Amino acid sequence: MSTQVEEREFQAEARQLLELLIHSVYSNKDTFLRELISNASDALDKARLESYRNKDLDIDTSDLHIEITPDKDARTLTVRDNGIGMSKDEVVTLIGTLAKSGTAELRRALAEAKNSEVPSELIGQFGVGFYSTFMVADKVTMVTRKVGETTATRWVSEGAGTYTIEDVEDAPQGTSITLHLKDSDDDDHLFDYTAEWKIREIVKRYSDFISWPVRMDKEST
Ligand code: ADP
Ligand code: MG
Repeated sequence: MSTQVEEREFQAEARQLLELLIHSVYSNKDTFLRELISNASDALDKARLESYRNKDLDIDTSDLHIEITPDKDARTLTVRDNGIGMSKDEVVTLIGTLAKSGTAELRRALAEAKNSEVPSELIGQFGVGFYSTFMVADKVTMVTRKVGETTATRWVSEGAGTYTIEDVEDAPQGTSITLHLKDSDDDDHLFDYTAEWKIREIVKRYSDFISWPVRMDKEST
């Protein structure tokens, strides 16, 4: 069955924020991993909760966990959870827009932020979390399947203005986010986020409040 790839535009405020993050010289880029882990952890919490609430859904809660997979050759980093996942509509509304952007506070912060400098308070607030991936990635691919649904959604974006979305079959429960990392040898002082020690260090620093197992797949090479 052939699936259709649709291109859509980010909502204006999301686009503005992404623009800032892409060109960000914000020094604490490591926070992108904290944001992904925290989203994954929330998704696992929700899966467990939903399995209590809705026994009919037959949610697999036997091995809820987070998995981090670096690939040095492909220069990608994948963070996967087998949590609640997102429906296609949820991907569009939660990721394509700034879900919490109605606040006057965010508007003000964005207006005040210079192109070269994203205030650190912005990151991790107002639903900026997921977008922080664009500080370190020039392309982000997400495949997500909501519990109880059979069709999954693939979302791909290079952060600039648009994203594509399509249906996929055969995806496991939960969400897999793959970052295609920016080159580390530019003048942006990016770390090598495919380095195991680096990932471990960040996870250790940020995962104190995560009650789910975080596993790291050894890179294949
Ligand atoms: P926040 O976590 O503050 O709501 P984010 O930008 O980090 O903001 O994420 C936006 C929303 O996207 C989340 O609230 C959640 O509904 C959804 N989301 C993000 N990552 C995941 C994930 N791994 N699994 C399920 N839903 C997710
Ligand atoms: Mg978040």
